[in-house]
Amino acid sequence: MDLAMKQEDLAFRDEVRAFLDTHLTEELKARARLTPGILSDHSLRVEWLAIVNARGWAAPSWPKQYGGTGWDVMKRFIYASECATAGVPISSNMGLSMVGPTLMGHGSEAQKAWYLPRILNGEDWWCQGYSEPGSGSDLASLQTRAISDGDDYIVNGSKLWTTGAHFANRMFCLVRTDPSARKQEGISFILIDMESPGITVEPIITLAGDHEVNQVFFDNVRVPKANLVGAENNGWTVAKYLLEFERGGSAHGANLRSALNRLRSIASEERAGDGGKLITDPAFRRKVDEADIDVTAVESTEHRIMSALSSGQNPGAASSIIKTRGTEMNQRLTELGIEAVAYYVVPHVLEARIWGSNVSPAGPDHALMAVPKYLNTRASSIYGGSNEVQRNIMAKAVLEL
Ligand SMILES: Cc1cc2nc3c(=O)[nH]c(=O)nc-3n(C[C@H](O)[C@H](O)[C@H](O)COP(=O)(O)OP(=O)(O)OC[C@H]3O[C@@H](n4cnc5c(N)ncnc54)[C@H](O)[C@@H]3O)c2cc1C
Repeated sequence: MDLAMKQEDLAFRDEVRAFLDTHLTEELKARARLTPGILSDHSLRVEWLAIVNARGWAAPSWPKQYGGTGWDVMKRFIYASECATAGVPISSNMGLSMVGPTLMGHGSEAQKAWYLPRILNGEDWWCQGYSEPGSGSDLASLQTRAISDGDDYIVNGSKLWTTGAHFANRMFCLVRTDPSARKQEGISFILIDMESPGITVEPIITLAGDHEVNQVFFDNVRVPKANLVGAENNGWTVAKYLLEFERGGSAHGANLRSALNRLRSIASEERAGDGGKLITDPAFRRKVDEADIDVTAVESTEHRIMSALSSGQNPGAASSIIKTRGTEMNQRLTELGIEAVAYYVVPHVLEARIWGSNVSPAGPDHALMAVPKYLNTRASSIYGGSNEVQRNIMAKAVLEL
């Protein structure tokens, strides 16, 4: 594996840095810092998408013919790493990262022509309707039913933990179209207009007081059959294809490194029990240095995946290692964040996290997000395939158990 960047990669990195220096204003960065988890405030995401779209960089992983950048995996990795280091708003745009590539692979020409430009322009924001009450890890047991009725399906059931359903105007959704078939075989992948009559979105407010996830109810919702992606009852194949696009182009290492640097800077301001700076306290220092070693291991694993992808290989179980170690490290860093700000974790001033609010945080500014980040990060070992399930994959693929 060659870890050194080529001259053209270094030049590209400088181009990205110059773009971010110009367009990522201090205000945008400050607003982005108020993000507890994987989603910045929606208005901020809309604003940032417009900025990168104007530069032609909205869709780093899309081919040029569909309005993407056409970048190779190394360029995508550099771009994601530079964005993470600079602190861009966290977009987690499921249109760009999930449904767009899926439509390119399985959608009709009409679906591609209609939906893809709307994703780039920010006209459509998508949410993922996979999980249901009782169907998460065992997704194939899902029960939301779609019954054929002329040119439409009539959909009934419920989706749970649907991130961003409250601002999304579209959902890509797995529904059961044939209850008599084996469970993976009776599922279809459909696109639902969230404005359709019969849809109710109920908020789920998380421990930190945030509204990111929802439960969505379908009560006789009419969905045109033109919105079926792939063949009827072949949705499992489409769903698996979509999951492939969660690989590559992300930058867990750079995100963790930024969080670690921030932790160091907070610990340089906070005091230890002996009155000195916390960063010089041997016990705390040791935890930070151990975390540094583990972050370096995540970075190296990520480079290994990049190297495999660049030479056309499949990263295999390495993406499960990154998911598991990346989320565990993120949780550990937020725990150290709590330890660093000590007593200031007690007052939790939600209003101070609203951009432009005249409510001041209790304690220093850097203490404001310690608890929300800590609480929000607990979910990261559950979503995107729980870490226990990732360990099963590693046990099978790496240890051949
Ligand atoms: C913040 C958040 C956002 C989410 N966003 C979305 C979204 O936008 N769209 C969407 O469709 N879903 C979303 N999800 C749902 C997520 O994908 C599921 O929560 C996840 O797949 C786990 O499913 P479950 O909650 O049903 O738990 P279960 O599958 O019931 O698991 C319960 C526990 O059992 C363990 N377990 C389950 N099966 C096994 C096994 N075979 N071996 C070992 N242990 C096992 C799990 O690890 C877990 O600890 C989100 C979840 C969260 C928390």
